[in-house]
Amino acid sequence: MSTKKGTIGVKTADIFPIIKKWLYSEHDIFVRELISNACDAITKRHTLSRSSNFEAPTGSIKVEVDKKNKTITFSDNGLGMTEVEVEKYLAQLAFSGAAEFVEKMKLEGNNQSKDEIIGKFGLGFYSAFMAADKVEVETLSMNEGATAVKWTCAGETEYEFSTSQKKEVGTTIKLFVNSDGEEFLESWKMRQVLRHYCDFMPHPITLVDLNQEKPDEKPDVINDATPLWKKDPTTLVDEDYKNFYKKMFPMDGEPLFWLHLNVDHPFTLQGILFFPKLNRDKPVQEQGLKLYSKQVFVSDNVKSIIPDFLALLKGAIDSTDIPLNVSRSALQGDPNIKKIANYIVKKVGESLKKLFNNDRARYETVWEDIGLFVKYGCVSDTKFDEMMRSMVLFKNTDGKLVTLSDYQTLIPTLYQEKLKDKYITFEKNISDETLRSQLHKENIPVIEIDQMIDPHFTQHTEMMKVGEQNFQFVAIDTEIENLLGETTSDADLKVKDLFTESIKETEFEVKAMKSSSTAAYFKVDQQMKRFQQMTRSMGQKFDMPSKRTLVINPHHPLIKNAMTLWNDGKNKELAHKICYYVQDLAQISSEGLNAEAKEAFVTRSQNLIQELTGLAIH
Ligand code: ADP
Ligand code: MG
Repeated sequence: MSTKKGTIGVKTADIFPIIKKWLYSEHDIFVRELISNACDAITKRHTLSRSSNFEAPTGSIKVEVDKKNKTITFSDNGLGMTEVEVEKYLAQLAFSGAAEFVEKMKLEGNNQSKDEIIGKFGLGFYSAFMAADKVEVETLSMNEGATAVKWTCAGETEYEFSTSQKKEVGTTIKLFVNSDGEEFLESWKMRQVLRHYCDFMPHPITLVDLNQEKPDEKPDVINDATPLWKKDPTTLVDEDYKNFYKKMFPMDGEPLFWLHLNVDHPFTLQGILFFPKLNRDKPVQEQGLKLYSKQVFVSDNVKSIIPDFLALLKGAIDSTDIPLNVSRSALQGDPNIKKIANYIVKKVGESLKKLFNNDRARYETVWEDIGLFVKYGCVSDTKFDEMMRSMVLFKNTDGKLVTLSDYQTLIPTLYQEKLKDKYITFEKNISDETLRSQLHKENIPVIEIDQMIDPHFTQHTEMMKVGEQNFQFVAIDTEIENLLGETTSDADLKVKDLFTESIKETEFEVKAMKSSSTAAYFKVDQQMKRFQQMTRSMGQKFDMPSKRTLVINPHHPLIKNAMTLWNDGKNKELAHKICYYVQDLAQISSEGLNAEAKEAFVTRSQNLIQELTGLAIH
């Protein structure tokens, strides 16, 4: 065949420089585009062969990097192209897609971010020019009697056809790499890109470094052409899932459990969702969930596509209904994506419900890890909230995990009236420990709340229930007097005078209490407490001075003794010391002492004990 020249039919002559310039930040995408074309070609060959009862060879895609000659070659044994097809599909059709892209870029280039535009148009074959100045395509069609052709395009709108010696059916695309593409000549870099985009593409991909002393005779296959999510779940065992997880997330430990998704209708979707072990001290890794379209990696930035809380899960979602080349903002509005997200929310909820109903013990063991996820889900998704709210667990005083309705059944009859529609909450390291043990003695349940998600969850839950069942989460220190309070006599109230005389800088309140194990505790206004909790949960330091009141129990022996000393006027000094001591103890059982306060406390304690032992000796 003689050499034949042609011109790409476009208006935009400067398309190549624009492609290069604009796509600079994402120019590894050409690898994905060329390999997914190769995969398509192989799949087409298989389909065509099957329908005419031929047997097609096993698919194979080879990537060769040649640093010396500055070329990268992509070869496949797909269906190949005839000269007419090359002309039609590469020179005209593929180009018009790229041209449209450039037009769009010119119109919106300044307003829209680059990757949004890249997303809207699959640059396809022409993305090769992001890394190459010249591209050579040699191809032999599977059609009977076809002859091989070579098509060369040197990054201008002119191209050239010539004869090719290619013997096997398939296509070889050789990129003569420019300075932008040089990094991809390094086999480690190419391997990295292949692993990123092509890890689960449906046909085996091998990488050969031609500059290696002895290029591998039989190079390793890079990808897993039949990822686990494509397999029939009934043929899989736990180990398969664990191994797959390890492969996808080598830095993680074992997953807690997983969900194999498989739907045909109303959209097609396969995937595996893993519940990872969450480490509360480490920020949540956000790129655990990967989206694929027909096994081609689309994105691992799913935050704006699926509900936020699902982004805590890890794994793969593969759906032909996820448009491969669509920008993130378009994905958000895509009705299929919405359906897919709803479906996933439902499936996740159902699987948790099943676990809760069938194996509460196991549900409780994983709660530590999934609790944050579930509560976050309830707060952010109404459907999920409806499904899951009754399965949210809290740690009770005795360490048992209880639901909100369990809580209700645990309230002793004696306190049922007082605790109607109330949940008493306790914050570790903040609430007073002695109050908790006091309620424990009375068998009154107290649930522990954290400082991260619970302030949001409790507020949300209260709001959701208003009108229907008006309940409240109340802090232990604001509620205890309603539960254990007794009539405070006028004599009792005198205690306040003692404390005011002893300690100037604190607000006091006197409240007689049934049990006498607590001499005094700090109480924070409920409104203020809420505000504090919210601020803390959003990671902000709480700087506002918190108004705390020291509530004193006049029936406690320590307080009684102090009063006697003070009333008698025998040892007022000692009475004052005891007041300080009582305050210190309240501080220790709640938030604890900072370094400065600790020092003062030690000095005060020494003085007090010295005085008391002195009295005992004399
Ligand atoms: P798309 O893949 O979206 O169709 P591309 O620009 O990537 O757009 O490719 C254009 C067309 O060129 C393909 O549809 C296909 O017909 C043809 N083509 C590209 N690469 C190959 C290949 N490796 N083997 C056979 N045909 C190919
Ligand atoms: Mg393509």
